[in-house]
Amino acid sequence: MEKATYPNLTHAAGYILIYRPEHPAANCHGYVLEHRCVMETEIGRVLQRNEIVHHINGDKKDNRIENLSLMDWHTHGSIESKKYWDARI
Ligand SMILES: [Zn+2]
Repeated sequence: MEKATYPNLTHAAGYILIYRPEHPAANCHGYVLEHRCVMETEIGRVLQRNEIVHHINGDKKDNRIENLSLMDWHTHGSIESKKYWDARI
């Protein structure tokens, strides 16, 4: 049987999605956010829902491990709002 190929997709928010139907966080189409998978591979476990993988340089498509930082949603929120206010000055 021919194996179907599933292309990477771009999430509406600009993130890259990869096809991983066996992943516990896969959506109904079998896709998961690539940057979360990269971090999970790095730390060797599945991420909790309250854990955020932040893109250090702000490029949501730059999923190299050195551009990713794991933090809880509260810390992430304060970083992103600081960035927002900095950009307005
Ligand atoms: Zn972020």
